[in-house]
Formats: sequence, structure tokens, C-alpha cells
Amino acid sequence: NSYLQRIKAEDPKINSYISITEELALSQAEAADKARTNGEAGTFTGLPIAHKDIFCTQGVRTSCGSKMLDNFISPYNATVIENFNQAGAVTLGKTNMDEFAMGSSNESSYYGPSRNPWNTDCVPGGSSGGSAAAVAGRLAPAATGTDTGGSIRQPAALCGITGIKPTYGRVSRYGMIAFASSLDQGGPMTRTAEDAAMMLNVMAGFDAKDSTSLDQAVPDYTLTLNESLKGLKIGLPKEFFSDQIDPQIAAQVQNAIKEYEALGATVKEISLPNTHLAIPAYYIIAPAEASSNLSRFDGVRYGYRCDEPVDLEDLYKRSRGEGFGEEVKRRIMVGTYALSEGFYDAYYKKALQIRRLIQQDYVNALKEVDIIMGPTTPHPAFKLGEKTSDPVAMYMEDIFTISLNLAGMPGMSVPCGFANGLPVGLQLIGNYFAEARLLNAAHQFQ
Ligand code: GLN
Repeated sequence: NSYLQRIKAEDPKINSYISITEELALSQAEAADKARTNGEAGTFTGLPIAHKDIFCTQGVRTSCGSKMLDNFISPYNATVIENFNQAGAVTLGKTNMDEFAMGSSNESSYYGPSRNPWNTDCVPGGSSGGSAAAVAGRLAPAATGTDTGGSIRQPAALCGITGIKPTYGRVSRYGMIAFASSLDQGGPMTRTAEDAAMMLNVMAGFDAKDSTSLDQAVPDYTLTLNESLKGLKIGLPKEFFSDQIDPQIAAQVQNAIKEYEALGATVKEISLPNTHLAIPAYYIIAPAEASSNLSRFDGVRYGYRCDEPVDLEDLYKRSRGEGFGEEVKRRIMVGTYALSEGFYDAYYKKALQIRRLIQQDYVNALKEVDIIMGPTTPHPAFKLGEKTSDPVAMYMEDIFTISLNLAGMPGMSVPCGFANGLPVGLQLIGNYFAEARLLNAAHQFQ
């Protein structure tokens, strides 16, 4: 009740929620009370959380930030939602996001942008900006997010919270509306690494309903949080410390590294030589996959349908034309072009080859060091409207986060101070399945 009241009072300023699921929340809270009385309570029993509106939630509108799904009430739960329900958590609502998770500022949402609680003239980042703003604005103790090219880490950094993108395949994608299936990964967005560890305990695990889910035992991520960092080898990629980054961000990250040295870690410079190719490769691969994934929204089976179509072609054209926003259309067109006959080898195939090179950069670097660190973003939160007219400037905000999705490894952002009064994020990157180590390193720092 206290969270629901706070959301009603404060969220009109932040717009972090697309839907407040009051009825569901109250009935789940009641069930949690009963479980508590019967001595059946676990860690999450009665704990309110918010879910990114990309996770299908039974009986609740699941919009993915799009007009296309504004009328879509999901008939089933995503595995992530189901896991939290089973754990006894309470769903406060569904959080705002860039349309179909395409964006870095939340400004492509059909429901209007969410705002950064630290300065409401600024964006919260994206695409999981609503989740980040809700946690930072104390409108939820924790939230779920998804990260295709930085969408957990970048908004976490811009809103001064903690977020982890697990190894690709660690968290089930079943019921998580697909953007770019080979890159999408769900994860927690929380105040602290300890909270993230508890959330990941619920989210991670094999799921037969997701063909890319990995059948690997899930450790209890809270058990290793207090391990010493003595001897931890940290690598600083020189490509992440170029003169393109805000000097105050560089200074805060360098301070954080000094703290790690004080905790017993050693630091060395490393190189991820293909970093500059990550954005061009991603903006072929992600739109290519999106153009295919989004073909299901045709106005026939579910979602938006135009008024009075004259024939089938008119139905497709107008439903998609009216239902999708600008950025989504741009991605569908780029992706369709890149996959079309005659261009496939020049664009898509080349992008996949670059993807392999980028992955190899990380594999090689992580033979030398345990964790790679650097800034999560080149700049702190920017003003609403500042980058909307220049898509490439917007894409460049993901320069330090996007390459990791191409490699499939886990990455995390933790708050490490302020630049011009706005939060700065420190990024931690580890090898496949190194989530426990990242959470441990983040916890020791916090
Ligand atoms: N900002 C990137 C994009 O627009 C990444 C988004 C994401 O991770 N979902 O594609």
C-alpha cells in the first residue's frame, strides 16, 4: 500500500510506470500475508517489485512501450514473471520503456518519456528507463529490465542504481517480447549488488521453453558477496578511456579503480581493438533480427488493427504503419534492407564476422584479467530532446555497452559518484557465467 500510494503521488512527475497493477499487487500481498502466517515465507514473499513492460504478464496489459500492443492483455506469464510469482513477490506494475526496447533515452515510448529522478529535465536512459527511474525514485525497491545493447546497464548508470546483464542464456527469454533474439537478456535493476544477487537467484536458471537457455547449475549469488578481492586482476581497456568521454566521468571511474587497488586488486591496461566496430555491427545485426521478430505484428492475430481495411494488404500496411513508431520503422527498414538478396553478404554476413572478432577480443582479454572495468557510458544523463533528431548521436551513447552483447558475456553497472550532479556508472565485465564474481566485486565496492 505504501508503494502504491507513493507511485500515485510521485509517478506523474517521473512517468516510470505504464501500468500500475493495483488489483494484482493487493491480491499477491494478501497471499503473501497468508504464507507468512503459515510460516511458508521465503526471501521474496510479499516483496514488491516492478517489471519492465516487455515481460508478458497474465491478465495484464503488456505493451512493450508500443501503440501496437496498447490493447494486448497477455494470456500467459513470461518465465521471469512466473519465477517471481512463485517466489511470492508482489507486482506493483509494468515499467516504461523505449518502444520494443529500441532506444537509449526512453523517448521512443508510446506512453511518453520517463524522466530521471535526479533531474527531471534529463532522460533516465533506455530502454529500461522506467525500471531505472522507478528504483532511483524509490517507486519500487527493485525491478526487472532487459539488455540487448546496454538497456540495463546504461539506464542504471544514468539513474545511479545497480544493474546486471547476465550471460546470454542465463535468464529465460520465454515471454520476453523479442527485439534481437541473439542479444536479448533479462536481468535485475536494484539499489545494491546484494539486492541484484537476490533478484538474480530468482531470475536465473534453465528453461526448456527457451531454446537458447543454458542448462547450467545456478549458484546462490548471495553466498560469495563477501569474498576478498585480494589478487583480483582488473583490466582497463584503453579504448574505453578515449578523449570522447566526459572528463568528470573519467575521473570518477579512475577514483573507483583506486578503491579497488586499495581492496587488494591489481590493475593493468588491456586492449579491445575492435571496439570501434561494435556500433556499426550491432546496427546491422539487431535491426536484422528485429525486422524478422516484428513481422508477427500484422494486425491479424493480436495487437493494433487499423480501421476498416479494404483488403489484406491494406490491413498489413496501415496496421503496421499506424501501430509502430518512427524508431521501430527505421529499424525494420534497415534490417529488411540488410537481409535482402544482394546485400546480405555485404552487410549481414560482414556484421556477423565482426561480431566474432569482438567476441574474440573479450575472450583474449579475459585470459589475462578477471574483470574488465571502465565507464558504462561516455556522458551522464542528457536533456530530453537533446539527441532525438540525431539517431547516430543517440546510438553512440551505447558505445561501451553494446559490444558485450555481441560477445554474450555478463556485465554490470554500479554507481561510482557524480558528474555535474548526475550519477556516473562504473562498468564491470566478466567471463561467461562470472555473474557471482561481478556481484562480489560490486558488493565490496559499495
Ligand atoms: N540502445 C540500444 C538500441 O537502441 C540498445 C537497446 C537495448 O539494449 N534494448 O538498440
